[in-house]
Amino acid sequence: MKSYVTTPIYYVNGSPHIGHAHTSVMADILMRNRAALGYDCKLTTGCDEHGQKNQEAAEKAGLEPAEYLRQRSGEFQRVFDMLDVNYDFFVHTSRPFHKEQVARAEAKLYDAGLIIQKQYRGLYCTGCEQFKKPSDLNDENRCQDHPNIDVEELDELNYFLRIEPYRQRLLQHIEDNPGFVKPAKYVKELKQMLEEPLEDLCISRPKRRVSLGVELPFDTDYVTYVWFDALINYLTNLGWPEEDYQPWWSTVEHLIGKDILKTHGVYWPIMLMAMEETLPRQLSVHGHWVGAGGLKMSKTLGNVVDPVEVVDQLGADALRYYMARNMRTDSDSQISIDLIRQAYNSELGNKLGNLLSRAGKFTSSKYDGCVTEPGALQPEDEALRAEVLAAAQGFAKHFEMSDIPTLVRQLVDACDQLNEYFAAQAPWGLIKDPATEERCRTVLYVTLDCLRLVLESFRQIIPTSADRALAMLGTEFDDNTVWAPQLSALKAGAPLGEIETLFPRITE
Ligand SMILES: [Zn+2]
Repeated sequence: MKSYVTTPIYYVNGSPHIGHAHTSVMADILMRNRAALGYDCKLTTGCDEHGQKNQEAAEKAGLEPAEYLRQRSGEFQRVFDMLDVNYDFFVHTSRPFHKEQVARAEAKLYDAGLIIQKQYRGLYCTGCEQFKKPSDLNDENRCQDHPNIDVEELDELNYFLRIEPYRQRLLQHIEDNPGFVKPAKYVKELKQMLEEPLEDLCISRPKRRVSLGVELPFDTDYVTYVWFDALINYLTNLGWPEEDYQPWWSTVEHLIGKDILKTHGVYWPIMLMAMEETLPRQLSVHGHWVGAGGLKMSKTLGNVVDPVEVVDQLGADALRYYMARNMRTDSDSQISIDLIRQAYNSELGNKLGNLLSRAGKFTSSKYDGCVTEPGALQPEDEALRAEVLAAAQGFAKHFEMSDIPTLVRQLVDACDQLNEYFAAQAPWGLIKDPATEERCRTVLYVTLDCLRLVLESFRQIIPTSADRALAMLGTEFDDNTVWAPQLSALKAGAPLGEIETLFPRITE
């Protein structure tokens, strides 16, 4: 079985922010989940290197576009590497193969009579690089997503793809495929976008205004509209149309933020219909991050969360964990460095790291550093084990992006149970009396074996820390076998590794 997961390709007109980090980390989590289930996986992320915004950013930086793109794309790649995003392919839309295939697709659409030229007057938001209808704007006549940028009035001769003829077919596809957009609330939003006739999609920009882009094959005075070019990356990453792309393409899942639902839910499927390609299997949509208290992040408020700063202070897994646990599906989600630090200290540190440290060190010092031989299990042992196994089993299924926070919370709940069990059983008391010494070994065994199962699940969320912790338990993981959560897999008598502090407490 195959699984192809994509993130949007990001404009490089600024440094990578928390939104970029979020989508790419969630894609990585999905891939680690699929890989654990034995899928053949492909994950792509990368940079959109065309369009007016990038061009203006290069000019502002006083650099040649190529040099500017090289620096900025490198910065994105470094941040994703830092966050352990295990991508298979890092997209650069300036790649010749991609540009050639975009032009080829356009020539085909043009020859089929699907692209027309006409004069267009309208309002344009350079923030989203899209034409806007007056009804799309806020009270100050600005784009809802870019309230700090004035929309420009443009009057231009451009090329357009007629998309209205495909609207009913797309609505029917959404109707026939309930899993096409997830979670369900975005199906409703998408259907609303398709209620009224669609205006022709402008697919060109005159070179005198924008030069950074793919030249139109049928008119060299124009470059391709940046979105039209960018969306096609999802195909060109697979070597489309020359290589055997279909087995991967038929599994594709696009991860997107809710602000780009229209481009991915309306324009992209219609482009694919016009190109006579099959539609993506699934669009998985997430909401946005806002600052603590629900305030929009802004430089003036000083509440912008910089992923690099978080990694420097708290490590990649603190950020991965926070994002995985706290993205809500019903509203925007709050994030700040304080909230991340609190979650790191109180959940990763107190609930997971401390227990590993206490049970591990106790075993090491009292039992020669080896996993204890358990006696007969008691009902309280069995109850705990059942709970931990159930939480782990959530990670042995093919899950959706929107399932991640619930699954992580179930693991944290299992850690709570484990801590309560360890405190109630109090092995440090049991060891003192020869009559209860066997019970002490059982409690230590059950605790460490359950921790192992929690950590094997956490490999999909916080891979570096989980692998470090598993090494402390003396277990190694074979990524070439399909993972199935099992109790009692920890071998009695096997040596533990050195028990270190997994999540050292970090105060401001
Ligand atoms: Zn905008």
